[in-house]
Amino acid sequence: MKKIVVFLGAPGAGKGTAAAAVAASTGARHVSTGAMLRDAVSRGTPAGLEAKSYMDAGALVPDEVLYKMVVETLVGAPDGATLFFDGFPRNLAQAEALAPLAKEGGAEVAGAICLDVAKDALLARLGGRRTCPKCGAGYHVLSLPPKVEGKCDVCGSDLAVRDDDKPETIAHRLEIYESATAPVIGFYEKAGALRRIDASGSAAEVADLVLKALKEMV
Ligand code: AMP
Repeated sequence: MKKIVVFLGAPGAGKGTAAAAVAASTGARHVSTGAMLRDAVSRGTPAGLEAKSYMDAGALVPDEVLYKMVVETLVGAPDGATLFFDGFPRNLAQAEALAPLAKEGGAEVAGAICLDVAKDALLARLGGRRTCPKCGAGYHVLSLPPKVEGKCDVCGSDLAVRDDDKPETIAHRLEIYESATAPVIGFYEKAGALRRIDASGSAAEVADLVLKALKEMV
């Protein structure tokens, strides 16, 4: 059986950074639906063409596009794999859909970890975020700077500010988070499958807390 651990938290809470770090140290797979969609956009696939206008506006991409991606990812994962879902589910409909989608892909949801960060800290984090447009690696000017300013450590490309990390879009993404995504936390809480961690510390501290929460889950 494959296992899914859902990473929850506001934009800027550090889901991607923590999921990538803990995946690297445990052999789990980091599945970022945002990164998959950005890759689909840059390759100009049908899903990418459909997703682009929603993403540029900081809006949610239609559920069906995501469901297809999720099942393909699960089917492609080897038996026994643990997958860290970063960015899915993003609303209640997706949360309800996940268990049947998981079943289709030979997986089950082991639990959810919510990264808690106060709103002013989220805004500071989002403004400093930099992403490699080529390989998708993520950085932060303060907390996770690249070795050479403005250049990707992994592939050397020039780092960029994602369109959806621009100030006007950030405000919109936080609103969507409050209205559509925050209820997903209650969904896992009611199911008794939620672990909350204080994600206000450094990337290393957060990764450590995630690892501890994970040990009680998978
Ligand atoms: P992220 O990198 O997780 O912040 O995602 C970037 C963008 O991709 C979001 O602002 C959405 O437009 C889109 N996206 C990612 N995951 C989902 C999802 N589960 N449902 C709908 N849209 C998504």
